[in-house]
Amino acid sequence: MRLCGAQYIYVRYFRLVSVSYLKLTMLTCSPATASANTASNAKTFALLAELCKERRIEWIEWEKVPLRSLSTPAFPRRVRIVEVGPRDGLQNEPEFVPTPCKVEFINRLSRSGLQTIEATSFVSPKWVPQMADHSAVFSQIDKRPGISYPVLVPNVKGLEAAISAGVKEIAIFGAASETFSQKNINCSIAESLQRFQNVVNLSKEHGIKVRGYISCVCGCPYEGQVSPVAVAKVARQMYDLGCYEISLGDTIGVGTPLSMRAVLEEVLKIIPPNAIAVHCHDTYGQALPNILTALEMGIAVVDASVAGLGGCPYANGASGNVATEDVVYMLQGMQIDTGIDMRQLLSAADYICTVLKKQTNSKAGRALLPKLKSP
Ligand SMILES: [Zn+2]
Repeated sequence: MRLCGAQYIYVRYFRLVSVSYLKLTMLTCSPATASANTASNAKTFALLAELCKERRIEWIEWEKVPLRSLSTPAFPRRVRIVEVGPRDGLQNEPEFVPTPCKVEFINRLSRSGLQTIEATSFVSPKWVPQMADHSAVFSQIDKRPGISYPVLVPNVKGLEAAISAGVKEIAIFGAASETFSQKNINCSIAESLQRFQNVVNLSKEHGIKVRGYISCVCGCPYEGQVSPVAVAKVARQMYDLGCYEISLGDTIGVGTPLSMRAVLEEVLKIIPPNAIAVHCHDTYGQALPNILTALEMGIAVVDASVAGLGGCPYANGASGNVATEDVVYMLQGMQIDTGIDMRQLLSAADYICTVLKKQTNSKAGRALLPKLKSP
């Protein structure tokens, strides 16, 4: 039996290594839940408990295990969605979206119950013309209490502009792939982290929270595979730099549940799960399974973009960010609390799709919107 010689019951281990689901649930349920289960399950549970006692294996109690019930293993009770549509989504739109439309879009999102809405990017308009109106957008949106409106900041100059605009949270970005870092931000990974140290220091002086993005965690358009150990190294450096949360981005959407798991396993060795978010792109239709994998591993923060806004510059015509509506639909179905009102979310998505004159990329949106609109 696998328990022999083990010092701990490590739930993730048992889940990973070909142990049947039944055995897993027996290992991870509370005695109270087990006794309410079928008689044979309860018997197996008692045997396992006995065996653990005999072998002096630590018995992990219900609360210590990130599993919530027999039928829904390992999922968090509550998930915070970081809405990246107004920044990550819109910056991929070739035509300039008028400032009042961006403001209205964000205001609608604010009414949906989202707690974090990435509002804009304080980058040079030379690089991202779509975000040229960052200060105007930030100052004009209704800032609701309890909602954070982070902005992307590439350097100290951007941060200074953000500070003048009254920004309270920023996001910085690095890459797990050396070539991607060179091509995307024109410097090595090490140089980028050094550059961000100044940004983080200045942010701290102004009481600004800093979130970190890492691109290409499951693969790179130039290097192909990216080592999970390399991802974990950059994640740790960003965490040490002072980022309160690290968002692991599958920028080109090539990850599948097992590669996502491999990345998270490495990162979780050195960063607590409550400081990790996932940012999945749906290029190959893998975003939801990858997010599900992350949830199973105790991750409770998910980046998403309404209507699936944001294309993929490395795969022409491919879809971009996972759609917020699809993630919320999945989480609601799993009875995981998001605090989000789907109607309001759909209204924000419908609004921006009308502005952009395009169809939503959200499957849940396509299915739900006509129902909501019909009397
Ligand atoms: Zn993205």
